[in-house]
Amino acid sequence: MLVTQAVTILEKCKTISELRQIHAQMIKTNLVSNTFAASKLVSFCCLTGGLDHALSVFHRIQNPNPFIYFTLINCFTESSNPLESVYLYAHMLTCLEDWKGVEFSLPSVLKACGRLEAFEEGQQVHGQIFKTRLLFDPFVANSVVRMYLEFGQVGFARRVFDEMPARDVISWNSLITGYMRAGEIELARELFDEMPERDLVSYNAMIDGYGKFGKCELAEEIFGMADHKDVKTWTSMISAYVRNHYPKKALDMFREMLCLGVRPDAPALVSVLSAIADLGFVEEGKWIHAYISTKKLEMNTGFIGSALIDMYAKCGHIENAYHVFRSISHNRNVGDWNSMISGLAIHGLGTEALELFHDMERLKIEPDEISFLGLLGACSHGGLVDEGRHCFKIMQEKYKIVPKVQHYGCIIDLLSRAGYLEDALGVLRNMPFEPDVLAWKAILSASMKHENVVFGENAALQAIELAPDDSSCYVLLSNIYAKTGRWDDVAKVRSMMKQRRVGKIPGCSSILVKGKVHVFVVGKAIDEKFTHEVLSKLDDVVSRLKLEGYQPDLTQVLLDVEVEGKESLLSVHSEKMALAFGLINTSHGAPIHIVKNLRVCRDCHSFMKLVARVYNRRIVIRDQNRFHHFENGFCSCKDYW
Ligand code: ZN
Ligand code: ZN
Repeated sequence: MLVTQAVTILEKCKTISELRQIHAQMIKTNLVSNTFAASKLVSFCCLTGGLDHALSVFHRIQNPNPFIYFTLINCFTESSNPLESVYLYAHMLTCLEDWKGVEFSLPSVLKACGRLEAFEEGQQVHGQIFKTRLLFDPFVANSVVRMYLEFGQVGFARRVFDEMPARDVISWNSLITGYMRAGEIELARELFDEMPERDLVSYNAMIDGYGKFGKCELAEEIFGMADHKDVKTWTSMISAYVRNHYPKKALDMFREMLCLGVRPDAPALVSVLSAIADLGFVEEGKWIHAYISTKKLEMNTGFIGSALIDMYAKCGHIENAYHVFRSISHNRNVGDWNSMISGLAIHGLGTEALELFHDMERLKIEPDEISFLGLLGACSHGGLVDEGRHCFKIMQEKYKIVPKVQHYGCIIDLLSRAGYLEDALGVLRNMPFEPDVLAWKAILSASMKHENVVFGENAALQAIELAPDDSSCYVLLSNIYAKTGRWDDVAKVRSMMKQRRVGKIPGCSSILVKGKVHVFVVGKAIDEKFTHEVLSKLDDVVSRLKLEGYQPDLTQVLLDVEVEGKESLLSVHSEKMALAFGLINTSHGAPIHIVKNLRVCRDCHSFMKLVARVYNRRIVIRDQNRFHHFENGFCSCKDYW
């Protein structure tokens, strides 16, 4: 076999096994000792992914040239074994006589150091580059900057950047992105303002960064500055809105983007679906679903399937969520399973969630930590204590997942809700984390429910210490005191709130009627013209329910006021307002969907059950934590929430 023959055959070969055959042939005919033929073989091995094979061929080459090194280093950097590329680089330096051609490998080896978090090695390479004046090459210098950013060493990156004789737009963009990632948003902005020339990447990095750090207005400013926008620019702005709880703005922006003819990509669709899930607007969600189907987008690109399942579940349409889940049975990823499990969880369908998990196990789909968050939540909402304990156990023993503070939070929630307050406190005290405010709040609300004043008071004080700005802890504490008639202490809590300027989050409910959202707060409609009509309808409803034996549960308004005052305060909780509006404005027998920002109180809960029976309506309420499906006098949560 001649060298040229071997190379021609190599160029035609497509699989690793073909490659192996040629390799064997080349060894037999001693062609491997020919540098040219061998280097060809190495690069073909790299192309087909046979990295170990490439390495064994490489070791037989007598005088490898910088190009062979470059090919190998490049491939190993991107592989699961980037350390090999650092070795190869060191090997190259000892074997080659001069630095000619070494520069090609530098970006790769720097990237490998970054991936390995090998700070010292990275600095050594940087030193060599410095000595050889290769920093004049912006391609190499940018790689050094990026490596330091990968280490989180923004200061080092900045020094290299400042000393670069020739910066290009990539240098600026890398540093801006690095600053944003490190949370140095002001430094990023300074750089952005100083930039001689910006491109789309610069704008997108700024919008993205501002969005992540809750600076929506600044993100809007940059968005407005960009003359030209691509789908990434729009998506960055949409996700900034979603992340900072402006779902309505996110949806409007998505519509605007479509109007301008920008075709949304998977991240844009996932973002807007999450905005719709927040809003609970199922009609919008159905429209996006149809869009995805007509554009024939694959459900498994960028988690579109999971986002759809999640959206339907959070909009109260668990059947549709299940339908999507079933339709992607051929190609599900673990995210789809997770979305379905947590969807079932918020609907209180704990047993169904557990069944799904068993399917997962049967199909040998490895659950991850999110699967277990969903499962534990499902057990918690469904009151499935033994099952929950079991999940928590197999998660650690069978799947070797180390529970995070959120998992402990779930198990504490599960135990305390079910009345095992001592056990819950035991978990909280023994977990390897400092308890967070959520853990204490779980114990606090369970103590309220199970009327354990001592536990409740202690948990409330701990929670307040951890989150002095969270009004709900003060409210629960004052409720505990009120329940036991300790009005002096109630007053103390209130003055503490005043002193610390903690505002109560006002209860707020919304309902979608004929494509328009109507919002209600305690005692009134945001659109004032409806207030009177709604209140008088509510009076009718209350009188009718009283005939059926409805008695307002006055313990729910534990304020130190007269009984009559209590009753009128109660009757105007925002979900009742929204319900009355729904009764007026939807046709007889149509289901009513309400979204509430806080937890539903016990009185509103029994009120809804009665309305569902007396008025023969299906009422679905999404509160802060979960869904309640009221039908024929019962709620899907079985009064366990
Ligand atoms: Zn209420
Ligand atoms: Zn319920």
